[in-house]
Amino acid sequence: MYPRIIVDLKKLKHNAQRLIDIAHSHNHSIMAVTKVFCADQKLIDVYNELNIDYLADSRIKNLVKMTTDHPKVLLRIPMISEIDVMVSHVEMSLNSELETIKKINQSAKRQDTNHKIILMIDLGDLREGIFNENELINTVQEIMTLEHITLEGVGTNLTCYGGIIPSQETLEKLVSIKVKIEALTAKALKIISGGNSSNLTLLMNGEIPQGINNIRLGESIVLGRESAYGNHLENTYDDVFTFEAEVIESKIKPSVPIGQIGMDAFGNTPEFEDKGIIRRVILGVGRQDVDHEELIPLDTVEVIGSSSDHIIVDVSHSPQTYRVGDTMKFKLTYGSILSLYTSQYIEKHYV
Ligand SMILES: *Cc1c(COP(=O)(O)O)cnc(C)c1O
Repeated sequence: MYPRIIVDLKKLKHNAQRLIDIAHSHNHSIMAVTKVFCADQKLIDVYNELNIDYLADSRIKNLVKMTTDHPKVLLRIPMISEIDVMVSHVEMSLNSELETIKKINQSAKRQDTNHKIILMIDLGDLREGIFNENELINTVQEIMTLEHITLEGVGTNLTCYGGIIPSQETLEKLVSIKVKIEALTAKALKIISGGNSSNLTLLMNGEIPQGINNIRLGESIVLGRESAYGNHLENTYDDVFTFEAEVIESKIKPSVPIGQIGMDAFGNTPEFEDKGIIRRVILGVGRQDVDHEELIPLDTVEVIGSSSDHIIVDVSHSPQTYRVGDTMKFKLTYGSILSLYTSQYIEKHYV
């Protein structure tokens, strides 16, 4: 059945092994991030065979359902409403709110267990993390009084919201915060988590400041690229995931709609380029599953638009005819893997 996303498990394993090797050879532990493929157990099973240090996901539901011996880490700052589930299923989480950490402590006490936290520091990307130095010191002092919380380390996240590219200078700040906290608590921090796939260029050049010892990798494993500049990583695959959809209509029609143009299905006023008469193909997949602009055709065709359940492709310049029942293949971006995987209407096919 179509539409389907095709996962090449051998290529996934190859990429993951390659990134484990890069991380370990630079004395970094690695958190393999599973959110882009909704922590699909078939793929987790591949990771289970590898020497990965932690599996990490931003969604508690993904962490609850996954079966693994690797320690599990919650990446998104926990919601207070999910703390009980988190404490019972996940050994470690990233945090930035003292109020939440106190609630985790209470929950861990009730469940007669302990929870590890990585305190997130905002170095300017302006997503999660403590920004204010006084707040940081106060938070650390308070954490030291919580009996069911272990302050495992500190971390930062860049190039996610603000698009800030990690630099030695920025990461030095994280190291100096580590030093300050260790002086304050008289205890060594175990994990200094410097960032995500956007740290790879620095890491491979040996330019990550001394003291940082962990990296959290999602995109680089699934797409074979670092995410600061979007460069391909040597000896990795960029087609672990591909997508295949079926043609439900194939006709010669004009390229511009006929009549007065009002609003489209999403309330926008569309604009069209007049390319004369073209061959238009409709695929049985739509915006409910994926943003058509995130699909990368493997043929000389142009994806020209979509509605909720249809994607329209100009195939005028293709050597292929594309009859009804034929399929069309695409490579994918991070965003399209994410949304296709999340859609229940998309078959997951493994090779
Ligand atoms: C998603 C996420 C990552 C992984 O980022 P990639 O760019 O996919 O490697 C790392 N850290 C946090 C906090 C995340 O939410």
